Amino acid sequence: MCGIVGYVGERQAAPILLDGLAKLEYRGYDSAGVCVFFNKQLHVAKTKGRLAALGEMTAQGSGVPGCLGIGHTRWATHGAPSKENSHPHVSTNGKISVVHNGIIENYLFLKEFLRSAGKTFASETDTETVANLVEYHYEREGALFTAVKKAVAMLEGSYALGIVCVDDPERIVAVKKDSPLIFGFGKGENFIASDVPAILKHTREVAYLNDGDLVVFSKDSVEFYNTLGERTEKVPEHIDWEITAAEKGGYPHFMMKEIHEQPKAIRDTLKNLTQDGRVTLGNIELTRDYLSGVRRIYIVACGSAYYVGCLGKYILEKSCRIPVEPVLASEFRYSQPVLGEDTLVIIISQSGETADTLAALREANSMGARTLAIVNVVGSAIAKAASDVIYTCAGPEIAVATTKAYSTQLLVMYLLAMYIGDIMGTFKKREYDEVFQALQALPALISETITQERLAEMQACAARYCKHHDVFFIGRNVDSATCMEGSLKLKELAYVHSEAYAAGELKHGPISLIEENTLVIAVATTAELFDKTMSNVKEVKARGANVLGLTTENYREEIAKTVDSLLTVPKTHPLLQPSLNVIPLQVFSYYVALARGCDVDKPRNLAKSVTVE
Ligand code: GLU
Repeated sequence: MCGIVGYVGERQAAPILLDGLAKLEYRGYDSAGVCVFFNKQLHVAKTKGRLAALGEMTAQGSGVPGCLGIGHTRWATHGAPSKENSHPHVSTNGKISVVHNGIIENYLFLKEFLRSAGKTFASETDTETVANLVEYHYEREGALFTAVKKAVAMLEGSYALGIVCVDDPERIVAVKKDSPLIFGFGKGENFIASDVPAILKHTREVAYLNDGDLVVFSKDSVEFYNTLGERTEKVPEHIDWEITAAEKGGYPHFMMKEIHEQPKAIRDTLKNLTQDGRVTLGNIELTRDYLSGVRRIYIVACGSAYYVGCLGKYILEKSCRIPVEPVLASEFRYSQPVLGEDTLVIIISQSGETADTLAALREANSMGARTLAIVNVVGSAIAKAASDVIYTCAGPEIAVATTKAYSTQLLVMYLLAMYIGDIMGTFKKREYDEVFQALQALPALISETITQERLAEMQACAARYCKHHDVFFIGRNVDSATCMEGSLKLKELAYVHSEAYAAGELKHGPISLIEENTLVIAVATTAELFDKTMSNVKEVKARGANVLGLTTENYREEIAKTVDSLLTVPKTHPLLQPSLNVIPLQVFSYYVALARGCDVDKPRNLAKSVTVE
């Protein structure tokens, strides 16, 4: 994943690079480094650990002079997090330096080839191959631009690369394929970065590079080339959101801020996808003619977005009567899915850059299926590659564990169900109007779910259960899909082993793991299944489990008779209920993580935008 920044201008580069990297730390944070040109040399400062360590080493960059440089914050794929493996990497003769986001799949082959040409390697990374490959061609071509083009032609895999050369001290060359990269137009200075927040302080005019694009820029010039090597023009896109959207704004963590931003994210997405009491889904059009021919819907995604897909199965099947199958993106591509014109493939990704999901999308496209992407980032690779796009309006999500992006994706599931169900006549008008009304009230109900009083209850539960090692989440129907997300949150944030089981499935095996004091979190909000779930709760209670129940207000008294602790959420239309149920599970994991001393915004081993397979 990792974050890249590049700067050339009249100001000192290193502080700008470090500040930019700080905004990209969500992409990777196991080591960081900068390379700056100064006094006829390339100066590299890099270190293992968080960006703060690099900041300390370089006096926040002020200790590294020079006005042109590249920077990197890493999420290791090849080679452990270490100083040697951290970027920037420098070529054998010290002339070329490279930062890279992605994976060079043929790096072993290239390494052998370069070794036989006399190049040496100091790291275990795939990236160092690129530095040496550019050097190899530079020695033959004598120009950085041509050397990069020749090197890139030999690369297989994914990359966003920022490259500098000691003999070309005024220019940076950057190129991308399957990893994100933007160019920032400045005045007397120019930038590259993996994502907008890194440079928003300096410019609002950006160009999103396409796969195969190459850019060569100095402080006052820029040339773009497409994949065929032809010069192209890029019209700057204006970024109109505020940098404060990517700052903590008084909250102790991005995650807590983003939990509180969920009502706004829902409101904004609703505004974008509805009009005059109807679901419009923005610009897409799925006609009755087309939908009548759809035999199956796949929902393809990773992580929390996949769990949105699991909820989507219940929601869409119930409302549209079309078979829906959620599939993990990393599995989809290699499972020979049965696809064709009668299949709609829904792709969900917050960043729109998730490598596994992008690969699955391309597979679906190539097999003739219609693809519909649900993404949060305008102009992202997935948005560009899909037949249709629905944008969620969650705004920038910085905390690695998703909250508001998940909630907006879930909202899109309801809207899709209403849209398709309405066209197909499976969603009755009366219910459509009822749900539409309930949707308008949803943001306020989410706010009601996170009042100070309710947060305090969730924190108290977290304090009570934060020492448990193994946790089971159980629920039925949509509640079971919510359990999967709750369980993932606890794993990723608090490093607690947990499992999510359909409540009725427990007795078919896992119940043997329940013993005195095992924590079971039971989500029971589905009216028609409440009694059944409660029977399962009694089964685990009978075996000594400590049960934390999560239900709607109206069941408070009922459930209190059985469980040890209790959290409630307001009641809404049954279709929309999962949007409220997930909130206490997000907050619970947040507080358990804090109680266990974990870094909630940057959990170990993770990164936000997973741009490698
Ligand atoms: N493959 C490179 C490395 O391991 C870059 C990793 C990344 O993009 O996250 O250093």
